[in-house]
Amino acid sequence: MIPVKQVRRALQPQRGGFLNTFTHTLQPYAGCAFGQATSQGQGCPYCYVRRLPVALFAASPWGEWVVAKENIADVLRREMHRLAKRGMLPTLRIFMSSATDPYQGAETGLRLTRACLEVFAEYPPALLVVQTRSPLVVRDVDVLQRIPGAWVSLTLETNEELVRRAFTPTSPTVASRLDAMQQLLQAGIPVQAAVSPMLPNTPDVFARLLKHRCTRAVVDTLFHGDGAHGRRSEALGLRALFERLGYAEWYHRSAHLPLLRALESELGAHRVQFSQAGFNAIGDEGDAFARS
Ligand code: SF4
Repeated sequence: MIPVKQVRRALQPQRGGFLNTFTHTLQPYAGCAFGQATSQGQGCPYCYVRRLPVALFAASPWGEWVVAKENIADVLRREMHRLAKRGMLPTLRIFMSSATDPYQGAETGLRLTRACLEVFAEYPPALLVVQTRSPLVVRDVDVLQRIPGAWVSLTLETNEELVRRAFTPTSPTVASRLDAMQQLLQAGIPVQAAVSPMLPNTPDVFARLLKHRCTRAVVDTLFHGDGAHGRRSEALGLRALFERLGYAEWYHRSAHLPLLRALESELGAHRVQFSQAGFNAIGDEGDAFARS
């Protein structure tokens, strides 16, 4: 059993920052088990959250703890009810989640994220982006279908299973994530393939794999997406990690350009976005937003 806590607030107002077109974030869990270290290495070595106060002031290292916010859906329901009464639902752009993954392993049994989705089905915001790397999100397709503004943004940093295993050994396989994208899309849920941060890959193959599995793709890098022009990535030791794993030639500012070109050629430029502006433009007019 993982520890639980009670919260007084569910939606966190988003003021500026990386997600500057979103009005709120929502985290059903604190901590993140995808970041745990294994004998093969650190779960998500690029995770910037490990340098934020939530991680720095925790009793255990980032990746080794998860706390479930047991009453999050009840609190969210009250907040959404109040917002609905004030006519605010059409103004809400909600990102779930920015500092954890809402589909932790514990979610299989606890169903807190699913309970939050049920609230959004009752009180639909203009936009809900569910950000995850876990195929477990497919379990909730039936609820997502009842939220008109819902997107799933699925992280897939590379198409190469060997690269995934080397850099993020505790993450779900490439094949399972591609399969999840396909299932979501087939169920009518708009899917953003979040190649973020991009890891070494084979651009033409990767672009072809994504072509019919996502509504849009957004690419981000360890230089453009770390909020500090690459200094955070440097501080996290990523240059050394790329060198140690034999991928030193991929650690540079323009390494993403071949993939961007390949994606634009396969998907069309209107379905391909880059870095912060790309994440923030999701669901905008002109985006391929319509459900099939
Ligand atoms: S899944 Fe996301 S929040 Fe969790 S450790 Fe990895 S990068 Fe960080």
